[in-house]
Amino acid sequence: AHEGILRRQSLRESSARTYARSLPIVPVRARGLTIEGADGRRYLDCLSGAGTLALGHNHPVVLEAIKGVIDSGAPLHVLDLATPVKDAFITELFATLPRGLADNARVQFCGPAGTDAVEAALKLVRTATGRSGLLAFTGAYHGMTAGALDASGGAQDVRVTRLPYPYDYRCPFGVGGERGAELSARWTENLLDDPKSGVAHPAGMILEPVQGEGGVIPAPDEWMRRMRRITADRSIALIADEVQTGVGRTGAFWAVEHSGIVPDVMVLSKAIGGSLPLAVVVYRADLDVWEPGAHAGTFRGNQLAMAAGAATLAYVRENRLAERAAVLGARMMGQLQGLAADHPCIGNVRGRGLMIGIELVDPDAAPGDESRTSTGVPPAASALAAAVQQECLERGLIVELGGRHAGVVRLLPPLTLTDEQASAVLDRLADALSAAER
Ligand code: PMP
Repeated sequence: AHEGILRRQSLRESSARTYARSLPIVPVRARGLTIEGADGRRYLDCLSGAGTLALGHNHPVVLEAIKGVIDSGAPLHVLDLATPVKDAFITELFATLPRGLADNARVQFCGPAGTDAVEAALKLVRTATGRSGLLAFTGAYHGMTAGALDASGGAQDVRVTRLPYPYDYRCPFGVGGERGAELSARWTENLLDDPKSGVAHPAGMILEPVQGEGGVIPAPDEWMRRMRRITADRSIALIADEVQTGVGRTGAFWAVEHSGIVPDVMVLSKAIGGSLPLAVVVYRADLDVWEPGAHAGTFRGNQLAMAAGAATLAYVRENRLAERAAVLGARMMGQLQGLAADHPCIGNVRGRGLMIGIELVDPDAAPGDESRTSTGVPPAASALAAAVQQECLERGLIVELGGRHAGVVRLLPPLTLTDEQASAVLDRLADALSAAER
């Protein structure tokens, strides 16, 4: 079955297939960290549905919640009608929201994907402010529909102004650290304060507290506070895209909590649906300027996703899995840093909680060589990262790649990862690094 399924799907599916190309597996069963393929092989899954599976595959509380809705005879599809299932989801969601937003928030259910919620957020701030300009960051990823794509790294839309994201390792200003972040903030201020720049008064700024697809780049807390001040002072709505960073992933329930800022708008998806499709925008009540029906969509009421999501949010909250992610993530990053001594291809280990990135460099380049830290394209590192991913797969470990040039190996394990599982993941990764370096 394994080979036949792979062959038929590669022939019939669009060339836009992504993961299926680099991960030729046929999952038929899964539990927690483990996926089993049609060929009987087992894999440790550190891709987690691109960061969706906060509790891993088929967690009992998620399955129970889904079965509960089905067994109750409740309708599965109800547009945006009020239901007890939705009531429970909203209550649980509001219980987790950052202080300062929770007591004065509105939630808008969107189409089922993260990109739908991004579209809704952009439209909301444009409607609320009556302005159309938008500030977004280099290396950002917000989705693949028109507006979200324009807000992502390679912005095309003339209404979108791209700003330098603070990227310590390959600092756009060549200085890194606090100084690099400071220069990024000043760049933003100068642009907004320069009447000739044409971007003086945008509707909003959208940012990821940790860039995910961009290569796991955490924004410094002080920089986040600075962006909050810059936008607040100028009545620019600050949109935090927590599609990937939310629900404990980074070691706080929401990643904005690390810096203590309260965004005007939060975009949420992935883990909030407990592995089923669900996306929402949460925002300050006074931004709720929409007329009834101003933002609609048939699939805003997925009852199974809301039940699975509420169960996931509650489980993460009650079991303090964000704190667990912070502790375990810090330990894993320390161990990965230790590996760098034996593996010259490890250029930089970074992340927050269980959102971890290992940026690879050309191991043959000398330490002072530009290709190790410059902002230029390091093709050797991309090829090496692809090789590491394949060597991981050989050893039964699924990892994601990301970064400006796909040179970053990413780990997004479930927050339920045990110490033993974490060791197994790192052992396999170390072996894979050795094999790829040869
Ligand atoms: N925003 C961020 C930060 C993301 O990481 C992603 C998906 N990787 C999206 C938006 C888009 O979500 P979706 O793929 O569900 O449309």
